[in-house]
Amino acid sequence: MLLPDQRAAVVRACHELVSSGLVRGTSGNVSVRDPDSGAIAITPTGLAYAGMRDSDVAVLALDGSQLDGALRPTSEVALHLGVYRARPDVGAVVHTHSMFATTFAVLGEQIPPVHYLIVRAGEAVPVAPYARYGTAQLAESCVRALGTGFAVLLANHGVVAVETDLSAAMAVAEAVEYTAELAWRARQLGVPQLLDAGQLAEARAAFADYGQPANRA
Ligand code: 13P
Ligand code: ZN
Repeated sequence: MLLPDQRAAVVRACHELVSSGLVRGTSGNVSVRDPDSGAIAITPTGLAYAGMRDSDVAVLALDGSQLDGALRPTSEVALHLGVYRARPDVGAVVHTHSMFATTFAVLGEQIPPVHYLIVRAGEAVPVAPYARYGTAQLAESCVRALGTGFAVLLANHGVVAVETDLSAAMAVAEAVEYTAELAWRARQLGVPQLLDAGQLAEARAAFADYGQPANRA
């Protein structure tokens, strides 16, 4: 079996997305790029995540040809491959229809910077113009709006989070949903105060040093 570790990681991420509520039913899809071979482990289309096995995860080359796995890959294969082609720094893509982020996507509104955690997504979370799910147009729209950032809203559809590895991409997806929910809740009670560009830049710089040192035993 090709990419056994990456396929297992994709299945674990899917289970996490379901238990955290970011994914319901068969919405969303997840992929990981193997830095050595450049091959991509990607969720199958239309399969409920609860019963998904490692062997159900497809393995594709960057040109889309299927290298392993009996099931058809996600309908958003063009979007995932488009991101990997445009962004050599990206090692994982997480797409969800998480409720609060998608609410802003329906409004065609960027997620306002109500919390410093939004900097995990980059300068802002832009909105990619609508195109039907699974199309080359949606892939193009997503890649263009994403630019050099780490998250993008897909108008009337959902959210795409990217990062160097899968756990970081999951953290981006969670930070985007958390900030979107917080903004929604704050608006129920009043007018949220937003962080300014300087405060966001300061938080972004501080994140470079957040957590445990990388080389700790
Ligand atoms: P798949 O089941 O094909 O991954 O589709 C889900 C989805 O979110 C399409 O945008
Ligand atoms: Zn979708």
